[in-house]
Amino acid sequence: MGSPPWNRDQDPFAELISADAIAQRCAELGAQITRDYAERAKSADIVVLGVLKGSVLFMADLSRHIALPIYLDFIGISSYGDDTKSSGVVQITQDLSRPIADKHVIVVEDIVDTGHTVHYLMENLATRKPASLSLCSLLHKPERSEREVKIDYLGFTIPNKFVVGYGLDIAQQWRNLPFIGFVTT
Ligand code: 5GP
Repeated sequence: MGSPPWNRDQDPFAELISADAIAQRCAELGAQITRDYAERAKSADIVVLGVLKGSVLFMADLSRHIALPIYLDFIGISSYGDDTKSSGVVQITQDLSRPIADKHVIVVEDIVDTGHTVHYLMENLATRKPASLSLCSLLHKPERSEREVKIDYLGFTIPNKFVVGYGLDIAQQWRNLPFIGFVTT
């Protein structure tokens, strides 16, 4: 069974990170998280918390490489700003299904760009008194950073390009691309 014919000439993106490279990195990050949380898993529940919608594909692949009993949950947030830049004003559009007090929480994000969204989110989650809180982001664009954000587990550092695919969208489309592309139009 071959891959679908993505990367056609008329598509508005070109491949930046291949599906194979993503799969390899998910395995490495999952193994690292498994090692780091094996001891903690004995003392409290582990919640892997995906940020909707961009992290959904990453969450599905990463979580299958975490060889520990984990809970999956999701939080929906929207950040206000213009098309290319978040303002730091963030709204929770869908809250967690269960409290995270006294649990080990690993937040799974698609991308840390300016850092405003994740900064707000981590501060909000910290007020709920988890036993521990860490951040796993698939992508980081350090050139755009405006807020210092500690990324405990990082997939890839990328240049200052608008990217799409593997969960990330252009106007809600193209989240289903199996690779990460940069926008060419
Ligand atoms: P922030 O600038 O607050 O770090 O990022 C806010 C959100 O903007 C991210 O969670 C992500 O949804 C979106 N975003 C930032 N950079 C990109 C990008 O290159 N491509 C796409 N599709 N979304 C992005």
